[in-house]
Order: sequence, then structure tokens, then C-alpha cells
Amino acid sequence: MIKVETDAHSGFCGGVIRAISTAEKLLAEKGAPLYSLGALVHNEEELHRLSGLGLESVGLGEAAMLPAGSRVIIRAHGEPPSTYAMLDAAGLETTDCTCPVVLRLQREVRMASQRSQVVIFGKIGHPEVAGLSGCAGDSAIVAETPGQIASACSSGLIDTSRSTELFSQTTMDPEAYMLAAQVLKEHMKAPVTVHDSICSQVASRQRQLGEFARSHDVVAFVAGSSSSNGKVLLELCRAANPRTYAVCSERDLQPGWFEGARSAGVCGATSTPKWLLERVARAIENL
Ligand code: SF4
Repeated sequence: MIKVETDAHSGFCGGVIRAISTAEKLLAEKGAPLYSLGALVHNEEELHRLSGLGLESVGLGEAAMLPAGSRVIIRAHGEPPSTYAMLDAAGLETTDCTCPVVLRLQREVRMASQRSQVVIFGKIGHPEVAGLSGCAGDSAIVAETPGQIASACSSGLIDTSRSTELFSQTTMDPEAYMLAAQVLKEHMKAPVTVHDSICSQVASRQRQLGEFARSHDVVAFVAGSSSSNGKVLLELCRAANPRTYAVCSERDLQPGWFEGARSAGVCGATSTPKWLLERVARAIENL
């Protein structure tokens, strides 16, 4: 029989736990409807569970049309200042669940933009990055890869003669961020300040996850299809163990993956609920 271990360090990070428990509390106190601006967590299974409790995801445009007094929750990724202004103008009752780590980063980006050129290393279009850019008055330059930083310097999008401060989205790969910083410094004529802005929960999970993946014959990595952190951690697991398979739930498991394996590890992203990891682990045992 295959031995299955669930990674004790996988599961929601502090910011996601806080946002979800706040939503559950608000729903228990006053019932539905409760609206979240965008998906509260990048995990379809957990969103399905929350929608069963009465939580509904809405876009900015839809939120602006809600009746005054409707309850809206801001998720852990945070929002730009323009969103708060819109929520105020629409008379909505807002609960801000921006992660304290992101709030601190937003403050730092705001201050940096008043004295320097700001470059953000993050996923273009990611809600956290949109929030950070908004805090810099939308003047920040966003790059997803070290190559994009090099191109932005060569094309003049990044002014290499201006003092510059570099920040990372909280869930980026620390090694890629180090490389991005190195590339930026190589191109710049003016001084560069590199801020250590990757979330410590993400960084420590990355260090430990490679070891976990190596210690098993097969790894099932559980994450929602739109989880940015999930994509980074999946690649890390694959590098440590080529027999790593990505699943959104136990329904994606394929028995052939586990042929000849004596042990399987189940792990996931900062947006993967523990209950889902356990369900995948039980399903592997029963294959
Ligand atoms: S990954 Fe870190 S910064 Fe992002 S929500 Fe979780 S605890 Fe907050």
C-alpha cells in the first residue's frame, strides 16, 4: 500500500486565513449577500464552498452598481486608492481584509514613489500588483521577468539616470527576484535600492517544499488554476521531483501516476485549503 503524507506547511497563509474567517464571520452574523471584490481566494474548490455560504464575487463595475449599504469585502491582495474612493462614493459598507504584509508594502511603495522611480517585479494584471501600482500613482513600471527589466532599461521605459527603488510582488520566486535585481543594477547609472518584499511565509515555504518533494516517489501538487503562488511552487516541486503532478482536486488524479510508487506527498499553494489537501491524500490512498 502506498504511504501518503500531507505537507504540514502547506495550506492557507495568514493573510488568506484572515480574509476567509472574516467572510465566514460576516456571513454568520448577518447572512447573505456578502460580496467580495474579485475572487476572495485563488482556489475554485474553496470559492465553491464559500459561495454555498452566500459569498458572491463581483468585479469593480458590478460593485459600483450595488445598492447603497451592500456589504463588500476587500481581499488579502489589497486594492488601489481609486477602489476605496469608488466604494465610498457608492455608499457601500466595506470590510478591508488587505493582508497586513501587503498594507505595509503599499505604504513603502507610496513613500518610494515620492522620492524615486519605482519598479515592481510582479505579474502584470495581478490584483496585488494593481494595488501597488495605484499606490505609486500609476507611475510604477511593472516587469514580470528579469528579461523584461532589461528590455525596459534598453527602451528607455526605465530611466536609467533616475534613482530607482525595486519592489517585488509578495509571492514571486525569490531566486527570480534576485536575478531581476542584478539585471536592473547592471543597466542602471543611478543608484538602485532593492526592497526585500517577498512575503516571509512564501519564502520559507519555498525553502521547505523542495525537500518535501524530494522525499517522496510521487507528488500531487494541489492549487487553483489562477494561483500565482501555485505556479511558482509547482515549478519548484517539479525541479525537485519530476514525478510532480498538478491537480485542482481529487477528481484530477490519475492512477497511472502512482504506479510502482511506495510514497506520495500532497502539498499546495498559500491559497489551497487544508481540507482539500486531506481530501486529495485520502483519494490517493483509495486509488
Ligand atoms: S502570501 Fe503573505 S503577503 Fe500574501 S496574503 Fe499571504 S501572508 Fe499576506
